[in-house]
Amino acid sequence: MSAAELIAARERVLLAPYAMHSADTAGRKHLEPPHPYRGPFQRDRDRIVHSAAYRRLSAKMQVFTGEMGDYHRTRLTHTHEVASVARTVGRALRLNEDLIEALALAHDLGHPPFGHAGEDALDECLRADGGFSHNRQALAIVEELERRYPEFPGLNLSFEVLEGQATRIDKRGSGLRPLLEAQVVEAADSVAYDTHDADDALELQLLSLDELLELPLWNEAARRVRRRYGALAEEELKRAVLHELIDWQVGDLIDRAGRRLAAGDLNSVSEVRAAETVVGVNPELAELKRHLEQFLYERVYRHPEVLRLRAKAQSMLAEMFVGYVARPELLPKSFQQRAQNVGLPRSVADYLAGMTDRYAQQEYSRLFAGILGAAPPR
Ligand code: MG
Repeated sequence: MSAAELIAARERVLLAPYAMHSADTAGRKHLEPPHPYRGPFQRDRDRIVHSAAYRRLSAKMQVFTGEMGDYHRTRLTHTHEVASVARTVGRALRLNEDLIEALALAHDLGHPPFGHAGEDALDECLRADGGFSHNRQALAIVEELERRYPEFPGLNLSFEVLEGQATRIDKRGSGLRPLLEAQVVEAADSVAYDTHDADDALELQLLSLDELLELPLWNEAARRVRRRYGALAEEELKRAVLHELIDWQVGDLIDRAGRRLAAGDLNSVSEVRAAETVVGVNPELAELKRHLEQFLYERVYRHPEVLRLRAKAQSMLAEMFVGYVARPELLPKSFQQRAQNVGLPRSVADYLAGMTDRYAQQEYSRLFAGILGAAPPR
């Protein structure tokens, strides 16, 4: 039996008919011979893990910068939490875990330094040149910017991984219906950040536990925890509630999607593509999550300290953008060449977007601080 036959036989046993089976992949843009022992999505996952953009996620902020401590999530640890939640849901629903993991590990590859603050700054810089979005940037990275193989640019990932990322870009307008594996990753992203952003904010003392316990979502989770453990000290209660929040959301996702799939009318990937979204929390839980997200927006994402760092990061990136456009000879050779194809502004933004928070700060101080007529950031 060939590796492909072995993988197909295993997946026929383990995966549901509505899952994406490796044997049915539409393949890669640049033709490659099959691997002697790895399936296509396993190979995609490995390519992502070995990419430079993936490693750099460790030095890119999620919500809080490295200046604020070392307890909170980075873009890399967030990515791992998403992959962990998504695999749990995917296994319970008998979906393709290799594809899920590839999609999860790639989902935030396109984040520039300084999170959404950096994204907004680059979007502003590229206003006349098509704008900037981290979801689109992830595709540019895996299709063009990574240089790992002599035969082709990018990582030459399977069509289904590229398509899954593409469905993140324009959720309504693209007309693309995500595979169940991509739906799971999307839902897992929300489970992860809704839970860990509150945890990080508590640790940084931007919020108190009492305030969170007033929110209906946290209140209900705490009620469940007390029913199970009785009274707990504050720190234990906090940790137990965080676990309960993940369990609750994951259980709800599996339960709801499982019941929908048990109806038996989705028996192939093409039927999934024609159907409404299957994976999502029930409307009542979704409402509680929206309430929490609104609270986090006002109290955490718009906290004065977060806003101060946001403004500093944005002016730094904007100055660097202007600086590199004015002096393209400061760009690495590969980005000078890329400017011939995609234009100088886009190539500068691609270079800036690839930087870690630390490297951006270092290059700013080395090349631009104070020399462009603007005061260096506080
Ligand atoms: Mg994410």
